[in-house]
Amino acid sequence: MASTLADSPNAKLNKTLLAKYMDLPIPDGKIQAMYIWIDGTGEGIRAKTRTLTNVPSSPKDLPRWNYDGSSTYQANGENSDTYLQPVAIYKDPFRRGNNILVLCDTYKFNLEPTETNHRISCLAAMKAAADQKPWFGIEQEYTLLDHDGRPLGWPKNGFPGAQGPYYCGVGADRVVARDIVEAHYRACLYAGVNIAGSNAEVMPAQWEFQVGPCEGIKMGDDLWMARFLLHRIAEEFGVIATLDPKPMPGDWNGAGAHCNFSTLAMREANGIVDINQAIEKLSKCHEKHIRAYDPKQGLDNARRLTGRHETSSIHDFSAGVANRGCSIRIPREVADEKKGYLEDRRPSSNCDPYSVTEAIVRTVCLNE
Ligand code: ADP
Ligand code: MN
Ligand code: MN
Ligand code: MN
Repeated sequence: MASTLADSPNAKLNKTLLAKYMDLPIPDGKIQAMYIWIDGTGEGIRAKTRTLTNVPSSPKDLPRWNYDGSSTYQANGENSDTYLQPVAIYKDPFRRGNNILVLCDTYKFNLEPTETNHRISCLAAMKAAADQKPWFGIEQEYTLLDHDGRPLGWPKNGFPGAQGPYYCGVGADRVVARDIVEAHYRACLYAGVNIAGSNAEVMPAQWEFQVGPCEGIKMGDDLWMARFLLHRIAEEFGVIATLDPKPMPGDWNGAGAHCNFSTLAMREANGIVDINQAIEKLSKCHEKHIRAYDPKQGLDNARRLTGRHETSSIHDFSAGVANRGCSIRIPREVADEKKGYLEDRRPSSNCDPYSVTEAIVRTVCLNE
């Protein structure tokens, strides 16, 4: 999957010139707000900026806005205006100061949610299950690509050495473009994304960051914002960050978005009982979850969940302690302490976290 552009001039543009303008004093009371939303693919992120004359303290203070949905696969040209409803505010690590990033969900001209607005039903589920205090932590794996579609730093006519030395690796022969990872981590912290950690992954040029624990709807909000920051920073470096679940076919690990999950009862003494009950419920609706765990209802994940490369088969449900070949893993520590959380290893790297967390809460907390 080569880039749609031949190359990126972004990293080569003179950043000293840019700094001169970013340092300009801005008139009192004016800020820039970048509105960010999910497009009609359910994977692509779009953004545009407006000037505001007040510093909002909650999304409710922000104006609704609109955009041309016919250019984002979300509307027809004759009836293209699509609405942006602010739902969460983050600090802007690029423009700094009082400038903000505004996560939005999207509505059609008749105010119905767009097809890829999965936040609204996720929010309903989270509200219904709020008393159980559902927490999530998602491990977002991704791959850095060059513009020819090859993983960044891979030989152009061949392959790197077999997997083994790269996971959590250190050294120029083991990891690629740590600059992007470090920049992204700091940007998440600055913005207010609840980032938990990062590590180099099993395939060279593949990385992971974790967001969480987050309660309820904040999981989806923070992960989408973290993805925006990743793409935006990689853009500056002239590199592509892909969330494709299997960027390289063959003996190379795919990319997932393991979803760690707990309720208050699971986190308390002898919570292992609730964890096992949850696994029992999950085992009865494997297909429903597979449909919710990638934007193509399982087609993307079929390339990844092969039963090899630390995955379970897409066709079977399985669970086990410390077993990375299962659908659900109970971390060793959780089994020892008899409380904690479970890890659902099935979600694809390009999943919509609203759909994933909604499915888990509906199955485990709401018995749907
Ligand atoms: P792995 O061992 O699978 O690589 P990671 O350390 O990458 O695990 O990620 C673990 C994730 O689990 C983190 O995002 C963390 O925030 C999350 N987490 C920790 N405790 C809980 C909990 N009680 N409920 C939900 N998520 C949790
Ligand atoms: Mn991990
Ligand atoms: Mn991982
Ligand atoms: Mn994991």
